[in-house]
Amino acid sequence: MTRIVYVNGRYHRYADASVHVEDRGFQFADSVYEVCEIAGGGIVDLDRHLARLARSLEALEIASPMSLSALAHVLHETVRRNRVRDGLVYLQVSRGAAPRDFAIPPAGTRPTVVCLARALPLGQADQVAQTGIAVITLPDIRWDRCDIKTVMLLPAVLAKREAGRRGAKEAWLVDRDGFVTEGASSNAWIVTDEGVLVTRSLSPALLPGVTRATLIDAIRRERLRLEERAFTPAEALSAREAFVTSATNTVMPVVRIDGTPIGDGRPGPVTMRLRRHFHDIAPVTN
Ligand code: PMP
Repeated sequence: MTRIVYVNGRYHRYADASVHVEDRGFQFADSVYEVCEIAGGGIVDLDRHLARLARSLEALEIASPMSLSALAHVLHETVRRNRVRDGLVYLQVSRGAAPRDFAIPPAGTRPTVVCLARALPLGQADQVAQTGIAVITLPDIRWDRCDIKTVMLLPAVLAKREAGRRGAKEAWLVDRDGFVTEGASSNAWIVTDEGVLVTRSLSPALLPGVTRATLIDAIRRERLRLEERAFTPAEALSAREAFVTSATNTVMPVVRIDGTPIGDGRPGPVTMRLRRHFHDIAPVTN
């Protein structure tokens, strides 16, 4: 349970935490965020998350509210005050509050910073991974800068709703050329019949996932075969294995796409090995 929330320099009780009604995050989705996994009280892949946050802020020319080390302190302190051992920590930085106007407010407008931490039931994701998840495919209706981690998440919300309606946990978004860009809240991967790991190469069409990057480090270190390229839903259907990566689910096997089983319909061995090893590879900061 979230008990304490950081807002603009202060730690508030959850029920009392709030931001201004004219916050630009609320009115324009003029805001960026990060979600990090907490494991054993430490923050997983903190440096990569902070680097991506800095990149998102820079892309939107939102002034950095404080140094990255000060932000790291806020993240750790929020985790500590909520006594979270395993769960997630969420950080959002908006351009701040100003009378509603499309024009960017004057320099000096203070960015809004919110940080909250939440425990997740230990072992829950592991349990889901035992059987794997189903995904559906949907057209990717998002904008052309999906590499910036903004809170403009309505397409993802609608895609998840449709996935839920069809008994799936995630939606793989398909671009106009018929290739999978990524999941609504994860990066998409397949393992081909030849045992090659395939995930789309980075571009403005998809989020540079932190989990994706850390997994690629591990794949290179283990000298597994990796191709960073786009794949179609049809190629995924004929793959040996499929999975998704994200901070809160690490490596999660995909066992069905649009109702069709992948491989034998069970989590694949390559996927499960990467999942087991993920926490041995990912740096944790305490
Ligand atoms: N793509 C999208 C669209 C996402 O929302 C996420 C989760 N934030 C990811 C990929 C996975 O990124 P990460 O591994 O950094 O959590």
